[in-house]
Amino acid sequence: MKGTPFAILVAMCLGLISFDTENRITFSLGQQTCILIQTITKPGALNFIALHDDENTAVKAFHSWTSELNINLMELHQNNDRYLKYQIGSKVFSIDPNKIFTEKGIANTLNSNYLKYPKELPIKIKQFADSLLAYFVDSSKRAYTIAIHNNSEANYSILNYKNPRLASKVFISSNEDIDDFFIVIDSLDYDFFKNLDQNVALQNIEADDDGSLSIYCHKNKIPYINIEAQDGHLAKQIEMIKLAYYLVTEKKL
Ligand SMILES: [Zn+2]
Repeated sequence: MKGTPFAILVAMCLGLISFDTENRITFSLGQQTCILIQTITKPGALNFIALHDDENTAVKAFHSWTSELNINLMELHQNNDRYLKYQIGSKVFSIDPNKIFTEKGIANTLNSNYLKYPKELPIKIKQFADSLLAYFVDSSKRAYTIAIHNNSEANYSILNYKNPRLASKVFISSNEDIDDFFIVIDSLDYDFFKNLDQNVALQNIEADDDGSLSIYCHKNKIPYINIEAQDGHLAKQIEMIKLAYYLVTEKKL
């Protein structure tokens, strides 16, 4: 602190300036590793989770707001790729980190991509997923888990959720881009975003178990919101983070 200008010291004392703490937790994926980068604005604050390493607008949107909202970020990082590499011997398996939170999801993702794989692989992946969940999910199931994602133009949008097998309700705003949308699991949250004219889908509890964090949270009754924005829609994703933040902080669980 020696040499820190007096005005900055005063601002820090008044809580006007905060300095984030960054923690890096390393996980082994066979002979590979990945890290969970935790940006802690305030211990115990709301956790936002970025699972896909190539979805950078979501992370940028988070960093634009850390000083104004009490939110923390957990960002999974390996090679700036959507898929994590898990290596056993000379064989490298690519795994979508948003398909590993249930045993069924792990089995489906391995079976659909590989003819054969070591029998310990699904068990090892499940152990990895469980250690991530210990960071992502509040054990009392009271605090929200909020995922932030980016998608590209036209391959995945709110229109996918017109399928009743995926969503029991869907609202499509005429004023929003179809690639910018919320996925929720509570009908009160659905009403909140709909009333704000935001694209929103209420996930069907019967939706196929694809091993995603949203399915895991829904099945385990963990409060959850997914914020999906098109890659590059920085201002929109910042707005969406703020809306989710206000919903969660106003709502008494
Ligand atoms: Zn994603």
